[in-house]
Amino acid sequence: MKKILVTGALGQIGTELVMKMRDMYGANNVIASSRSKRKETEVTESGPFELVDVVNAQQIADAVKKHNVDTVVNLAAILSASGEANPSGTWDINMGGLYNILEVARENNCAVCTPSSIAVFGPSTPKEQTPQDTVMRPTTMYGVTKVAGELLCDYYHMKFNVDTRGMRYPGLISNKALPGGGTTDYAVHIYYEALKHKKYECFLDKGTRMDMMYMPDALNAVIQLMEADPAKLIHRNAFNVTAMSFDPEGIAAEIRKHIPEFELTYNVNQDIQKIANSWPDSLDDSQARKQWNWNPKYDLASMTEDMLTELKKKLN
Ligand code: NAD
Repeated sequence: MKKILVTGALGQIGTELVMKMRDMYGANNVIASSRSKRKETEVTESGPFELVDVVNAQQIADAVKKHNVDTVVNLAAILSASGEANPSGTWDINMGGLYNILEVARENNCAVCTPSSIAVFGPSTPKEQTPQDTVMRPTTMYGVTKVAGELLCDYYHMKFNVDTRGMRYPGLISNKALPGGGTTDYAVHIYYEALKHKKYECFLDKGTRMDMMYMPDALNAVIQLMEADPAKLIHRNAFNVTAMSFDPEGIAAEIRKHIPEFELTYNVNQDIQKIANSWPDSLDDSQARKQWNWNPKYDLASMTEDMLTELKKKLN
C-alpha cells in the first residue's frame, strides 16, 4: 500500500486529487500538505494534513518520516501568469522546492511525481502537433523552472535512481477549486460567467488556440503514470499529454449550445497574451499513449456539458 504526501494540496489539482487518491488508497495513506491553512476543507479534514512549505527542506523531511511516506506528488508551484509578477519567488518555490523534494526523496527512498507544463515550450517551438522531443526555449520564468525541473528530475533518476515521473499538462478546467493564476484560466472563468451573467469578457484574444484538459482526465493522468510499469517509460518526466485544443470562440460556441444568448467579448491583457502566443496550438501526445496507455475521456462537448451541470448545482 502506498503512503503518499501531496504538496500544494489546496490548489486547483490538489483539492480533487487528494480526495480521489484517499478513495483509492485509503484516507490515512494520503497526507495532504500546504504552506498555510486558511480554513477547514474536506481536504484538510478527511485525512492527515501537515503544514509543509516546500522551500523548507526540514518540513518536507519531517512529514515524510512522520508518515512513512514512499511517494511524493509535488503540486506546490507558482503558475505562469502569477510567475511573471514575481519571477524571483517563482524560481525559489518552483526550483528550490523541487530540489528539496528530490533530496528528501533520495534520502528516504521515495518516488516523486511532479507535473510539468506546456509552458516548457516557447516561440521557436513548432506550434502544431508539437512533438514530444523538440525545441524548448521558454520566455517565462514559469517555463524556465518547468524545463529545468524536468531535467533535474531526469538527473535524479539517472544519477540516484529516484523514481521520478511527470507529465506536461495543458490548461486544466475544473469546477471545484478556482485556478491559481495561469494563462489558460479564462477557460474556467468563462463557464462561471456564462451561468451567472450569460456573458464573458475574455483576457485573451480571438483565435488564441491552446491545449486543454478536463480535471477528471488530469487526475487519471497522475495516477496512471504513477502506476505505470517503469520498464516501459522512456520519457519519465516530460510526457506531452492533451485532450483537446480550442480558442475562446470555440469554447463560446460550445457553451451557446446550452445557453444560446451567451455573449463573448474581448479585453486583451497584453502580458498574458504574450505568454499564450509563445505556447503551442496543439500537442502530439502519442508517446504518453504508447508508453503508459494515456487515453483521455473528455472532449470539448462532453466537458462543457459536465461543467455546466456541476456548476449549476454549485452556484444554486
Ligand atoms: P495552484 O496554484 O492551484 O496550487 C498550487 C498550490 O501550491 C497553492 O495552493 C499554493 O498555495 C501552494 N504553494 C505555493 N507555494 C508553496 C510553497 N512554498 N510550499 C507549499 N505550497 C505552496 O496550482 P495547480 O493548478 O494545482 O498546479 C499544480 C501543479 O500542476 C503545478 O506544478 C503546476 O505548474 C502544474 N500545472 C498546472 C496546470 C493548470 O492548468 N492548473 C497546467 C500545467 C501544469
